[in-house]
Amino acid sequence: MNIVLESTIKCPFCQFEEKIKIPEDKCIRTIICNNCKRAITPKEGDCCVFCSYAEVPCLAIQQEKDDSKLFL
Ligand SMILES: [Zn+2]
Repeated sequence: MNIVLESTIKCPFCQFEEKIKIPEDKCIRTIICNNCKRAITPKEGDCCVFCSYAEVPCLAIQQEKDDSKLFL
Protein backbone atom coordinates (compact mmCIF):
# COMPACT_ATOMS: atom_id res chain seq x y z
CA MET A 1 0.00 0.00 0.00
CA ASN A 2 1.31 3.33 -0.99
CA ILE A 3 -1.05 6.00 0.29
CA VAL A 4 -0.17 9.58 -0.48
CA LEU A 5 -1.29 12.22 2.03
CA GLU A 6 -0.29 15.28 0.09
CA SER A 7 -1.32 16.24 -3.38
CA THR A 8 -0.66 19.09 -5.76
CA ILE A 9 -3.85 20.71 -6.96
CA LYS A 10 -3.82 22.67 -10.17
CA CYS A 11 -6.29 25.52 -10.30
CA PRO A 12 -8.54 25.10 -13.37
CA PHE A 13 -8.85 28.88 -13.72
CA CYS A 14 -5.30 30.14 -13.49
CA GLN A 15 -3.21 26.91 -13.56
CA PHE A 16 -1.65 27.83 -10.22
CA GLU A 17 -0.33 24.76 -8.44
CA GLU A 18 -0.52 24.31 -4.71
CA LYS A 19 0.38 21.46 -2.39
CA ILE A 20 -2.58 20.48 -0.20
CA LYS A 21 -2.71 17.94 2.58
CA ILE A 22 -5.34 15.29 1.94
CA PRO A 23 -7.55 14.89 5.03
CA GLU A 24 -7.89 11.31 6.18
CA ASP A 25 -11.46 11.58 7.37
CA LYS A 26 -13.26 13.67 4.80
CA CYS A 27 -13.37 14.86 1.24
CA ILE A 28 -12.63 18.46 0.33
CA ARG A 29 -15.44 19.74 -1.87
CA THR A 30 -14.27 23.31 -2.15
CA ILE A 31 -10.96 25.07 -1.86
CA ILE A 32 -10.05 28.64 -2.60
CA CYS A 33 -7.19 29.14 -4.97
CA ASN A 34 -4.39 31.05 -3.30
CA ASN A 35 -3.56 32.82 -6.49
CA CYS A 36 -6.81 33.87 -8.18
CA LYS A 37 -9.02 33.46 -5.07
CA ARG A 38 -11.72 31.63 -6.98
CA ALA A 39 -13.53 28.66 -5.47
CA ILE A 40 -12.43 25.35 -6.94
CA THR A 41 -15.15 22.69 -6.86
CA PRO A 42 -15.12 19.12 -8.16
CA LYS A 43 -16.14 18.21 -11.68
CA GLU A 44 -19.42 16.41 -12.04
CA GLY A 45 -19.08 12.82 -10.90
CA ASP A 46 -15.97 13.40 -8.80
CA CYS A 47 -16.20 13.20 -5.02
CA CYS A 48 -13.73 15.96 -4.23
CA VAL A 49 -11.31 18.49 -5.64
CA PHE A 50 -8.41 16.07 -5.41
CA CYS A 51 -10.10 13.65 -7.78
CA SER A 52 -10.77 16.42 -10.28
CA TYR A 53 -7.67 18.55 -10.22
CA ALA A 54 -4.86 16.97 -8.23
CA GLU A 55 -2.08 14.66 -9.32
CA VAL A 56 -3.20 12.26 -6.58
CA PRO A 57 -6.89 11.52 -5.87
CA CYS A 58 -8.42 11.44 -2.40
CA LEU A 59 -7.83 8.62 0.05
CA ALA A 60 -11.09 6.80 -0.66
CA ILE A 61 -10.13 6.49 -4.30
CA GLN A 62 -6.52 5.64 -3.53
CA GLN A 63 -7.57 2.78 -1.32
CA GLU A 64 -10.14 1.55 -3.79
CA LYS A 65 -7.75 1.60 -6.68
CA ASP A 66 -4.85 0.12 -4.79
CA ASP A 67 -5.13 -3.26 -6.47
CA SER A 68 -5.12 -1.88 -9.95
CA LYS A 69 -2.68 0.99 -9.63
CA LEU A 70 -0.08 -0.87 -11.63
CA PHE A 71 -2.27 -0.44 -14.67
CA LEU A 72 -2.85 3.26 -14.30
ZN1 LIG B 1 -6.48 29.97 -9.41
